[in-house]
Amino acid sequence: MEVRIGQGYDVHALAEGLPMWLGGVLIPSGTGFVAHSDGDVAIHALCDALLGARAMGDIGHLFPDTSDEWKDVDSKILLDIVSRKVQSDSWTIGNVDITIALQAPKVAPYIDRMRETLAKVMGISPDRVSVKATTTEKLGFVGRKEGCEVWAVALIQRL
Ligand code: MG
Repeated sequence: MEVRIGQGYDVHALAEGLPMWLGGVLIPSGTGFVAHSDGDVAIHALCDALLGARAMGDIGHLFPDTSDEWKDVDSKILLDIVSRKVQSDSWTIGNVDITIALQAPKVAPYIDRMRETLAKVMGISPDRVSVKATTTEKLGFVGRKEGCEVWAVALIQRL
């Protein structure tokens, strides 16, 4: 069996009055992420991890923020395109692991829905999708509620 791994990282700024899409789930919050797309910073990091495993570049390259085609796009559509690309040539996704750093609101109540949503888009079972959340103990830009930071890793395999 051939195995490859990729990592992804993304940050988005928080602003008042925007919808908060995170991990494919709409989270009730007075704030949301500033972006050209829907700002789903967790999906963006996940896409970059998947693309990294195949050395296929990054989502900024695939979906340029200068293009009107991707304006306000649902990031689940981006993940669908990326996961199909990455699972070409007999590759399958082994597992993914995502860590979200956000001071508020609490992400924990939404983690299982995120895992189910992301798994469905990628066509894999939720037990292969891990989502973890942390605050930064009020330190740094995350702690000051200025933004959200996400890391992701993805393992892919083929026989
Ligand atoms: Mg992004």
